[in-house]
Amino acid sequence: MEIYKAKVLGFCYGVKRAMKIVNDTSQEGQPVVTLGPLIHNPQAVKRLMNRGVRSVNNLEEVKNKEIVIIRSHGVGPSCYNDIKCKNLTLVDATCPFVKRNQDIAKKLSHEGHQLILIGEKNHPELKSIAAWVEGKHPVIIENMEDVQRMPSFDEAHIVIQTTFSMVLAEELIASIQKKVGTLGVHKTICQATSERQKAAKELAGKVNVMIVIGGRNSANTGRLAEVCRAAGARTHHIETAKEIRKEWFHSQYKVGITAGASTPDWIIEEVVCIMEDMGKMLEMEEQNLDYKKGDVINGEVIELFDNRAYVSFGYKTEAVLPIHEYSYPEPESLKDVLKIGDPIKAVIVNGVREDNPIYISKIKLDRLSEWDDVEAAFEKGEPVECEGIESIKVGLLIQINSLRGFIPLSQGDLRFVHSLSNLVGKKFMAKILEVDRAKNRLVLSRKAVLEVQRDEELKVIEDAYANGDTLQGTVKKIMPYGAFIGVNGVEGLLHISDISWKKIAKVEDVLQPGEVIDVKIKSYDAEKQRISFTHKECIPNPWETSIHGHKIDDVVDAKVVKILDFGAIVELADGLTGLLHVNEMTNDHNKKPGDVCNVGDAIKVRIIGIDEERRRISFSLAEAINQETTEDAE
Ligand code: SF4
Repeated sequence: MEIYKAKVLGFCYGVKRAMKIVNDTSQEGQPVVTLGPLIHNPQAVKRLMNRGVRSVNNLEEVKNKEIVIIRSHGVGPSCYNDIKCKNLTLVDATCPFVKRNQDIAKKLSHEGHQLILIGEKNHPELKSIAAWVEGKHPVIIENMEDVQRMPSFDEAHIVIQTTFSMVLAEELIASIQKKVGTLGVHKTICQATSERQKAAKELAGKVNVMIVIGGRNSANTGRLAEVCRAAGARTHHIETAKEIRKEWFHSQYKVGITAGASTPDWIIEEVVCIMEDMGKMLEMEEQNLDYKKGDVINGEVIELFDNRAYVSFGYKTEAVLPIHEYSYPEPESLKDVLKIGDPIKAVIVNGVREDNPIYISKIKLDRLSEWDDVEAAFEKGEPVECEGIESIKVGLLIQINSLRGFIPLSQGDLRFVHSLSNLVGKKFMAKILEVDRAKNRLVLSRKAVLEVQRDEELKVIEDAYANGDTLQGTVKKIMPYGAFIGVNGVEGLLHISDISWKKIAKVEDVLQPGEVIDVKIKSYDAEKQRISFTHKECIPNPWETSIHGHKIDDVVDAKVVKILDFGAIVELADGLTGLLHVNEMTNDHNKKPGDVCNVGDAIKVRIIGIDEERRRISFSLAEAINQETTEDAE
């Protein structure tokens, strides 16, 4: 058990001052009485009694020659008058901060202002402030119901009890403002109160259990307990160490201690001592039991609910497996994933103590083996599958089963990207760069995996380039000058002139996105990773397959595929193309190529030249027409 004390706790300035005044006065030899208990702490008051300092309820109880001490909460003006009339000796221990409140109330009411006092109706300090109000009756506000009941005012001033809750006071003021035209607010809550509340809240947020020490009649101690409960700590309000119960703690617990402004140091120290002893005792007790926190148990499900399962594991009590300790992601109901009699292996997560339930976690045990797996993958340099769960400014948070990890922005992709949000909800492989189970740290790189993949893909490309292999590629994108083809994860350009042996007007006339075609690698620049493909090298070349079916003087069908300044390119049905010179188009030498034919025209031409070596073929339209005319005449 670890014990922490709040940064600020125990006696405040006003209480310390009052105690000193009483001590100093009682040492002067004359009997001393306090008008009401000096502070809201029965043990401290009893100690004073033992030293002869009595507490009286009213002035009637004061005996002759007894010095009357007014406590830190103060009294009203009539009490001062009575003491004077009775000729009693007065020592005033009213806290200067309370005195200031009384003075504010007196001055404002004297000036004719309406006063609203926020505080506990029965608290002696509030009563003393109210007693100093002159003229109009003050309105006392302790809670929201009081605000609803109060009448409306054109103007009023608020004075607050020094030990009142700051949070509640602010809520009340906000509501009061709606009922008052002009409202003056005097924030008279004592700093000692707010400091103790702030320190208690801070500590309560870090521990499992809070012990708040102070009189049950102490308003500020009660507030401290409320603050600690609101901060989420299991809170016990005690007056002395005798009230502490062992069952409130386990040895693994972090326990915080705070104390009200009227709690003496000796009570606080006594509590700390007892709790330290108790912590040692608990540790010894837990060591003597058969099972302890961290033990792995093999059990069987004996009772099942939606949100928890009871597991028998050979101990005198069953262990509880809460749904959130079963697996990641959490199932909707444990009944969906378990049935009575199922074996369960899990780890004990709390201290095992008599009469306390034992909690087990399967997820924590799974996590141990998940850490083993990622550590092994790290050692071997193997990638692991992970899922993107949240994109953040500096990278991506990922999940590997129940483990959380992080991919820095620079490790998310092959190229620099501004965000990895495209990976949220996606599963992918990543390589572990750093793993630290103790610090719960797991850093990964997707880029490292992509680099390996790219190297493998490029190796396939390199080999195919070296061997002249034919590969299968997918048309990814059509451009006016060609198409981008994806081969084995790598993209390259297939230029329009490399698509076919025939002339192509538009790429989309022959290729469609998504189409799979054969390609060969025409050029490959490993450094720039630039690839160009050819498709026409994968299909028959008409100069090798069809040219021998043609001879000079043959008249053949052809199509005009391009008009040039000096003629036209025509294409035969088998894909062979050749030049139809302007001089061979017509005998009329004033005509230009476009005057004789247009792209797409089907014409008959005579083959007038074949140069196999230079892969050139030339045609004559005029001769074909002449031959046709002659044949018709015959
Ligand atoms: S809590 Fe503040 S106002 Fe009250 S006695 Fe202590 S110092 Fe004075």
